[in-house]
Amino acid sequence: MNVTSTAATGMPLPAPTVLLYNQQGPALVPMTPQEVRADTNASTALKSARTTINWIAKHLGEAPFATPTNPVRIALQPNYNNAYWDGDKKLLTLGGGDGTKYKAFTSLDTVAHELIHARQSPTVGYSGESGAVTESVADLVAEVIDGGDWRLAADVFQGGFRDLATPKVSHRSMLQENPGIHALAGLSSLAGVRSAKVVGGTAMAQLWWNTAKALGDRPSLELLAQGTINSALKYWGAGTREAQAVRDAWVSVGVIS
Ligand SMILES: [Zn+2]
Repeated sequence: MNVTSTAATGMPLPAPTVLLYNQQGPALVPMTPQEVRADTNASTALKSARTTINWIAKHLGEAPFATPTNPVRIALQPNYNNAYWDGDKKLLTLGGGDGTKYKAFTSLDTVAHELIHARQSPTVGYSGESGAVTESVADLVAEVIDGGDWRLAADVFQGGFRDLATPKVSHRSMLQENPGIHALAGLSSLAGVRSAKVVGGTAMAQLWWNTAKALGDRPSLELLAQGTINSALKYWGAGTREAQAVRDAWVSVGVIS
């Protein structure tokens, strides 16, 4: 089932090509399959990446990526407390954590969040409402892939970085002047979490992903709301509890009235 785009085929998925590297200073040292198997962080990162790539191919109807000619490259950086996707280098860097406050940034939702960025338009940017839309979509899809406790990186950091189900800002009227990207993203994410309770996580992820993608480089929260509501109306029909749930969710966070 795909709510808003062509359904994925029943064809078996080819195994994704994921290459792992140890970062030593500026150098990326390729890891052999034996080294990956012997290294907990590397094998966890590989498993998280494969699960994400297969989920995206199966549920989001995306063209295959992580192929032998276009592999996903992952650098493991020791003593680093973050994870990020570099679109120019086409490289996912995962920190090994500090071993006390932060564990390795290799958990499924962390890797999924960054690999979803790898599939988003690189020209959207990381600020304002358009950045918030990309951030929210990455968070929501990552949590659906991870099984939906809605707490980003809860396996990396005590309590996680963000709880999508209970954000500090839960209504547009609570936003401060010049709100940060995560405060804005939190509104879309909370609408997604509330919609998922009725339509299911996968269908919600498809709605948010496909709508944001169709909005191109200038998405806004309001356009995302209107797009997901329209797609839900088209897919489930007017008067259905699913279509109503998506609309109610956006009204509940004050993005539309
Ligand atoms: Zn992000």
